[in-house]
Amino acid sequence: MIKLSRSTVEKYLNCPRCCVLDKNHKIKPPSLPFTLNIAVDNLCKNEFDYYRKIQEPHPLFVEHNIDAIPFKHKDIDIWRSNFKGIRYKSIEHNYDFGGAVDDVWKKNNGELIIADVKATSRNNFDWNETFNKYDYAKGYKRQLEMYQWLFRKNGFTVSDEAYLVYFNGKKNEEFFNNQLQFDTHIIKLDCSSSWVEDKVLETVRLLQSNEFPKPSSKCEYCNYLKQRWFLQKNFK
Ligand code: SF4
Repeated sequence: MIKLSRSTVEKYLNCPRCCVLDKNHKIKPPSLPFTLNIAVDNLCKNEFDYYRKIQEPHPLFVEHNIDAIPFKHKDIDIWRSNFKGIRYKSIEHNYDFGGAVDDVWKKNNGELIIADVKATSRNNFDWNETFNKYDYAKGYKRQLEMYQWLFRKNGFTVSDEAYLVYFNGKKNEEFFNNQLQFDTHIIKLDCSSSWVEDKVLETVRLLQSNEFPKPSSKCEYCNYLKQRWFLQKNFK
């Protein structure tokens, strides 16, 4: 059975070659750990857990008219674990697909809301501009849609509305005082998970084949390697 995560499918959508390199050959492009983002995620998780325990809406929900409370469920920590996450297995198509959510909220009508926490530091935070300009922002929406699909496949009723809880670090304060200040932005996204199953299947099919797709022409890593290779050839 092929085990794949939502980031495998995201890789397939961005560059099928990278997906094959990663999953079938264990070769990944270099990356740095986002330790500050992880710290923000964790602090935010602790805060949501406080309101989950007392089953009250987080003050941000009240401020943004979100009629929900953090979802209390015995598996919440499993769903949030990077090594487990929420999973769906298809015996028919031979895959085990999953992903780790940041948080799940429950609306008054019983529907679940999927939420993800992001951190950045920009002078002018404008989500609409970022979304229209950058592929990674569209990837954030796809990420939420994949989680929605997973929860639906696990028998939950899930709202199409999803949220990004975005923390924007203020970098122009007069004094640091060992404290990073943030603006908080709640971004509501109207999602659709209708595309997810097809793309999971396409990813599985590619990984089971002997195909080795071409690199993406836009990618800086492969362009770097290509240029290095040409240069090296001239010095032989
Ligand atoms: S083009 Fe980029 S994303 Fe694709 S295989 Fe090369 S490094 Fe990976």
